[in-house]
Amino acid sequence: MSLFDKFLPIQEARNELLKSGVNPFHITVDKILSPTEAIINGRTTILVGTNNYLGLTFHPDAILAGQQALALEGTGTTGSRMANGSFASHRELEKAIAEFYGAPYAIVFSTGYQANLGVLSALAGAGDTILMDGDSHASIYDGCRLGGAEIIRFKHNDVADLEKRLRRLGDRSQRTLIVVEGIYSMLGDRAPLAEIVEVKKKYGATLIVDEAHSLGILGQHGRGLAEETGVEQDVDCIVGTFSKSLGSTGGFGISSHPEFELIRYASRPYIFTASPCPSVVASTRATIRIIQTHPELRQQLWTNSQHLYEGLIKSGYTLGAEVGPIMAAMIPTRELALAMWQQLLENGIYVNLMIPPATPNGECLLRLSVSAAHTKKQIEKIISAFAELPHTTPTHSNPAQVQPDAILN
Ligand code: PMP
Repeated sequence: MSLFDKFLPIQEARNELLKSGVNPFHITVDKILSPTEAIINGRTTILVGTNNYLGLTFHPDAILAGQQALALEGTGTTGSRMANGSFASHRELEKAIAEFYGAPYAIVFSTGYQANLGVLSALAGAGDTILMDGDSHASIYDGCRLGGAEIIRFKHNDVADLEKRLRRLGDRSQRTLIVVEGIYSMLGDRAPLAEIVEVKKKYGATLIVDEAHSLGILGQHGRGLAEETGVEQDVDCIVGTFSKSLGSTGGFGISSHPEFELIRYASRPYIFTASPCPSVVASTRATIRIIQTHPELRQQLWTNSQHLYEGLIKSGYTLGAEVGPIMAAMIPTRELALAMWQQLLENGIYVNLMIPPATPNGECLLRLSVSAAHTKKQIEKIISAFAELPHTTPTHSNPAQVQPDAILN
């Protein structure tokens, strides 16, 4: 028995997939053409599974800012901010994200994954408790584990279950961190944040919201679900990523607690990794400015989302949540989902295939993420490609209550 034997089940699962002629988890984009189009398998393909919500990856301001930073500051920082020092541009990015949120403290991390690892592990350690939504993203799971706090999962979006568990904690509730997401990445549903805030206040807990999929999308200024719900003052920390609506990479945490600034000194994912490279930092600053000055992008995203949502519903699909930029068509079996995913790709449409254990409730999903950059014609093409597929909706009213290992994306 060697260390490598544990990979046998993965190999078997992969072989099963390969029998169908394609591996959906090993797709190569041969050439990226625009935020919404690429060449895949030699075919021009509409991308509707990229989280490029505002379509900013090719924005001329972001490209120019990145090019200038490359020329002026070089390709990389070659080390951590703690050891090698911050570039002025790191500080400026922190200032920009703090100003965007109207928060006094902001810390930038090299990825959104690391932002969760860094903030969660520093906030909740041995002797503390974390109450996390059961459908949380993998980075939340990993960040919670890294800190060594006791981890308790509450049922997805179930405030009564959250409250029951807080009550049971007694005095410990005051050293408890509640972790939720703005928009959940699998089904596109939102946390019931107003109720969660009420419960957190009642029990004196601390609340953190991961706005990875809601930054730039929800709220009058695009600050996310906390803004949309009007509870920004009652949320202790927000974490998020630059890799979705901002079309870049990197992550951040913001807070009004003065101690938040000290997380830098207590956070291994901040200290022991290279800081974001200058071109990425510059492009991110450019796209933060764009989302502040172009609210019409958000409007376009909602128009496109409404159009696609209605089209898929009319074609007989069961979708996971209300209208929003993330939609998930529920497919009864893994085999059918794979066949449909493949057929869509052959018809020039790229969506995400999501199967257990990375999905809630053991669902098989074809997940779509809409972009403000999709044209009306592209949305119509996506709808007709879905409509033409032979499909049925799941018959189970109560799918297997399989707890996800951790949500993938
Ligand atoms: N949080 C959530 C909710 C996410 O969905 C993701 C990424 N899909 C992350 C954090 C991590 O962000 P990144 O990919 O930028 O590291």
